[in-house]
Amino acid sequence: MVSPVTPSAGVLSPLGLDAVRLAPGFWGDRAALNREVIIGHCLEWMEREGWIGNFRGERPRRGREFSDSEAYKLLEAMAWSGHPGLPELAATVAAAQEDDGYLNTRWNSERYSDLEWGHELYCYGHLIQAGVARLRAHGEDELTKVARRAADHLCDRFMETTETCGHPEVEMALVELYRATGTERYLEMARRLVERRGLPALGPIHLGRAYFQDDMPVRRARVLRGHAVRALYLACGAVDVAVETGDGELLHAIEEQWENTVARRTHLTGGMGSRHSDEAFGEDFELPADRAYSETCAGIASIMLSHRLLLATGRTRYADLAERTMYNVLATSPALDGRSFFYANPLHMRIPPEPREGVVDHTSGVGLRSSWYDVSCCPNNIARTLASLPAYLAAADGDALHVHHYAPAEIGHRGLTLRLETDYPWSGTVTAHVVEGRPGRIVLRVPSWAQGATLTHGGTTRPAGPGNVTAEADWRPGDRIRLDLPMASRWTFPDRRVDAVRGCAAVERGPLVYCAESVADDPPLALVKALPEPPAERERDGVVELEARACLVPAGDVPWPYRDGHPDAAGREVTLRLVPYHRWGNRGPSSMRVWLPLS
Ligand SMILES: [Zn+2]
Repeated sequence: MVSPVTPSAGVLSPLGLDAVRLAPGFWGDRAALNREVIIGHCLEWMEREGWIGNFRGERPRRGREFSDSEAYKLLEAMAWSGHPGLPELAATVAAAQEDDGYLNTRWNSERYSDLEWGHELYCYGHLIQAGVARLRAHGEDELTKVARRAADHLCDRFMETTETCGHPEVEMALVELYRATGTERYLEMARRLVERRGLPALGPIHLGRAYFQDDMPVRRARVLRGHAVRALYLACGAVDVAVETGDGELLHAIEEQWENTVARRTHLTGGMGSRHSDEAFGEDFELPADRAYSETCAGIASIMLSHRLLLATGRTRYADLAERTMYNVLATSPALDGRSFFYANPLHMRIPPEPREGVVDHTSGVGLRSSWYDVSCCPNNIARTLASLPAYLAAADGDALHVHHYAPAEIGHRGLTLRLETDYPWSGTVTAHVVEGRPGRIVLRVPSWAQGATLTHGGTTRPAGPGNVTAEADWRPGDRIRLDLPMASRWTFPDRRVDAVRGCAAVERGPLVYCAESVADDPPLALVKALPEPPAERERDGVVELEARACLVPAGDVPWPYRDGHPDAAGREVTLRLVPYHRWGNRGPSSMRVWLPLS
């Protein structure tokens, strides 16, 4: 099974890259951009910044303490996509491994001296995931051996201790290595690492133990908290351990954490994380648009978690959030040319930021997309996710074929092969042509926003979903079924408790969140009030844009920006151009807002 996640139990089994092939379209084009541009871009920058040279022993060592992990994430991307650069990079990494399996270019003689911040186990996690990807996509080679030696070393060193790593990640990697090799000690090591966290297992830090989820045992927590990427990676590992060990209590705990986090700590885009200072979740309903951190990696980690929960339970709710996050965080980070990336994904940009292409961004903060970052976790995470994306599209339940995400693709399962044709997310029509047939069920996900969807099959049309809609037949080549998801744009209003955007609304269409973007002569967004009437649709270069009516209120310089009484809201009427959020910042520096104050 050529997939990043292959649970041995659960309601659904994944269909991997060997069963799902993307054709040109929204995701197929991005997967091609990844193969042709993004992977090479990442490799070039890591060479330039000396992060690959670290493995060759070049000194002084360059990059942050976790920079090795970036080479491993790129190796994973190369493994899934069959990139010809893999053997050379793998050989460079292999040469730096010590005889006992230890591998880290930063710590060497001081190994495991700073588990709170050292990221050594975190780096192994990414190395092991790269090894698993290579094993599944290609077979045993040097990279898979390096990964196994590192995992064996890790088990020897940490199995009987009470320690763990400040950054979770290795837990899910070890479970996956167990799934790929059948070696039970990897699963046992992962189980122990999940269980010992929060006892506590790490020393105190100035950000508090919740920062790295060491404030309480995983199974006792009710909501995700602390550093968003750490929290989400840990939850992924906990689901994997729960599924492989049959630990229903642990699985239920993570489901509850997911529910509470989605209900109170998630941005409209699916983005997670509100605090810049510690890249953390905020309190419940602390979801400011302008200070949204919503790190790209947190979005990817959220997709990984929802995918695992979907496979374990079959609940389409998880696929709904994954889809929201795929279209509004994953697709937002890379520029259309694949050469710059958002690290943070705020929902409001007050002033047009300075372009940062061609230089290393040392802020990791809010701005335009940058070519590279001092902490460049996001571009490589994009690369490995786009390289493995087909594995997220469909799954199986016995003979039944489930399609969760719609894209032009060919999907095969046990002698039933479908060719999906669609212009999704611009159009809501998805046609599945049977290429190779047998009797069985085809199950299609109807997203929660798609009220009034229909399924047409065998000359009849019937209401579909939300949830799953099933068509059963003795499928023959030439048969087809058609799903129609209503794509009218809709105004979305925040819960009152999301007080940062109270009095505002946002526009969504299908799975896409839209935003107003102000470039050059467009109306200044600080003074715009929207009229929540149905926006007009307009196609530009194959992209559906929207035009909303709004008014522009007057404002001048004042010595004190507060006053008695309500200010005059009258203003002149303007047309507000709304673009899909994932496309913002591609037309040069601009201000932007998702949540629009209402007139
Ligand atoms: Zn990141």
